[in-house]
Amino acid sequence: MKTLIVPDPTWQENPTDEQLARLVGAMAPWGECALLVAAETWPDDGGSRIEWAGVTEWIVVEQGGVTDWPAANWVRRIVSLAGDFSHIVAAASTFGSTVLPQVAARLDRAMVTGVQRIQSPDTFVRPVLAGNGLATIRATGQPVCLTLHLAGFAPAARINQPTPRIRHLTAPLLVDGSGARLLARTPIVRGQRPDLASARVVVAGGGGLAKAGHFALIEALADTLGAAVGASRAAVDAELAPTAWQIGQTGHIIAPDLYIGIGISGAIQHLAGIKGAKTIVAINHDPSAPLMRVADFALEADLYEAVPALIRALKTPPP
Ligand SMILES: Cc1cc2nc3c(=O)[nH]c(=O)nc-3n(C[C@H](O)[C@H](O)[C@H](O)COP(=O)(O)OP(=O)(O)OC[C@H]3O[C@@H](n4cnc5c(N)ncnc54)[C@H](O)[C@@H]3O)c2cc1C
Repeated sequence: MKTLIVPDPTWQENPTDEQLARLVGAMAPWGECALLVAAETWPDDGGSRIEWAGVTEWIVVEQGGVTDWPAANWVRRIVSLAGDFSHIVAAASTFGSTVLPQVAARLDRAMVTGVQRIQSPDTFVRPVLAGNGLATIRATGQPVCLTLHLAGFAPAARINQPTPRIRHLTAPLLVDGSGARLLARTPIVRGQRPDLASARVVVAGGGGLAKAGHFALIEALADTLGAAVGASRAAVDAELAPTAWQIGQTGHIIAPDLYIGIGISGAIQHLAGIKGAKTIVAINHDPSAPLMRVADFALEADLYEAVPALIRALKTPPP
């Protein structure tokens, strides 16, 4: 078994090895892995990124200084390499969810999205029915295309191993025939906060923050705890938080040690994203909110009083 791993090119805008480590960690137990990257967005930084257990090859595509590949170019490049691999894998991010189904369609091979667990090289577990059930799926034929929810996978170990093979490919500038043109890319600066998909502590805000009109309280509590910031869809729809922070069925699936949901009702689509959280804390002035019922600790309070008090208490040194 040999897997072609396609890291999300946007990870380079918010550099973190955690997501790549989890992607490799998911596949390395099953055999060799190769990483496919664009030279322009993933420059060689002296080798620090290549010491993952299980990665035997980096395939680096040079495309004449072009940094913004349309999805169609990724699809064509991956399809051209597919014959060498049993699995083609990306994160269940916007990138992976856009590119890999097109690859599977071109190859006429199986596509399994949002995989949470790999039972064997051909058997995968993914959530269904808004996270209320798990489907176990057997894929026939190779290569199998997979997108993974990274929170469910342990990161690969960084090791001192012989430097993997680096294969340089030069891609002719392909034309995207879709009729869509990229006009601008705006990186979302995450600063020093941990990555939401793999953070150990997540502080999330919801529609209850609408009265404030901003997420400052949520961010202040997250920064006090060294946590990632998440949001419900109501908060994203109200433009209190960027889409990249959304947790749930149509957002990130997270599995932190501690999740604190503030002013979030706990709709089924939101709960689908936090099922893996080890401890759930809810702050809501409505005790009948579904999140209050599933929480390990439920604080019935006005968030505008409770959150500042919590921040003050956390910042007060113990006597
Ligand atoms: C196909 C589909 C996919 C979806 N995907 C997602 C998804 O991925 N993620 C997601 O989150 N949602 C998703 N939704 C939307 C989901 O159904 C809910 O509408 C959304 O989760 C509601 O967000 P909320 O609980 O923050 O907001 P609200 O429903 O507005 O709840 C706000 C909560 O804040 C509390 N509150 C208000 N003021 C205060 C205060 N001062 N102090 C304390 N508490 C307060 C209220 O009691 C209430 O419980 C999806 C919906 C559909 C149909």
